[in-house]
Amino acid sequence: MISKIIKEELIQAAKDEIDSANDIVIVSHISPDGDAIGSSLAFANFLGTLDKRVKVIVPTAYPDYFGWMPGAKDILVYAENKEEADEIIKKTELIVALDFNVLKRIGDMALVVADAPARKVLVDHHIDPGSFADIVISYPEMTSTAEMVFRLICRMGYFTDMTKECAECIFVGLMTDTGSFSFNSNQSEIYSIVSELIKKGVDKDEIHRRVYDNYSESRFRLMGYMLTNKMKIYPEYGAALMCLTKEELDRYNYKPGDAEGFVNMPLSIKGIIFTALFKEDEEKIRMSFRSQGDVPVNEFAAEYFTGGGHKNAAGGQLYVSMDEAVRIFEEKLPTLAECMIAERDRQLSI
Ligand code: MN
Repeated sequence: MISKIIKEELIQAAKDEIDSANDIVIVSHISPDGDAIGSSLAFANFLGTLDKRVKVIVPTAYPDYFGWMPGAKDILVYAENKEEADEIIKKTELIVALDFNVLKRIGDMALVVADAPARKVLVDHHIDPGSFADIVISYPEMTSTAEMVFRLICRMGYFTDMTKECAECIFVGLMTDTGSFSFNSNQSEIYSIVSELIKKGVDKDEIHRRVYDNYSESRFRLMGYMLTNKMKIYPEYGAALMCLTKEELDRYNYKPGDAEGFVNMPLSIKGIIFTALFKEDEEKIRMSFRSQGDVPVNEFAAEYFTGGGHKNAAGGQLYVSMDEAVRIFEEKLPTLAECMIAERDRQLSI
């Protein structure tokens, strides 16, 4: 039995919005990951079974290895179809925002979404949701937005109508946001959900293969280059940093998603409990942070890198040079010293 975590009034409010709209737009965040694409396509598939006209719009391109997902070919990428997307967003009756908390996470789409006359429903699992939506369904304790979509569909009474395709998309979100059930994955109920998805016909082994054994050669070589040449270890803290410049991205024929998961790699080293990946983007540096145990990288990201996120997975960005970003990182790293050393020593003592 799966417990009723989402408040009944929120379920009803979301259902009322869906019932009274025929044209619905689903939006998700920049550099969409498996949960952004998975939750969006799952929700779109579900709305399709209710005979709604649905369009999924994401700000920037999604990785090739999600191209097989049911409905992926119909996703509109805002960066490549701005005018068409603007028209759709302005005319739609309902906007469902998935897997992001504040409008800046949708980049160039933020303004048109903010100004759109449509009603807005936010479904998300990041902390501190913004106030742009009429209905905010925010549960940071959930593994993924895909898990929330599963719970919403069930609680609205449509579980029996859930298609295999919808179940596949939910599974991708759950799988990718937990690193194949290797972190943030101790909630027993998610395995009840996976069980239900498998009963719907999901081939979980096949999906894992499609997502994780489907990288391009250049991505794989970039990974090797980063590990050999670009990984700096701070053994006194159990921390690691990798920096990826524009020149290197070009040299390795970078495509969206090619650096996905890189930030996690140093965590495989014994005694490393905090990792950072800095990636050069147009005029700024984007940061990703990951940690294990009681090392709050979201606070670190918010305090020094105009970012935020979850305790063990956060991001940020600064409009500075790579050298300056690294200098700030190394200057601020000692602020986490106490909790990093405690977690590192705890792991090493086992
Ligand atoms: Mn997510």
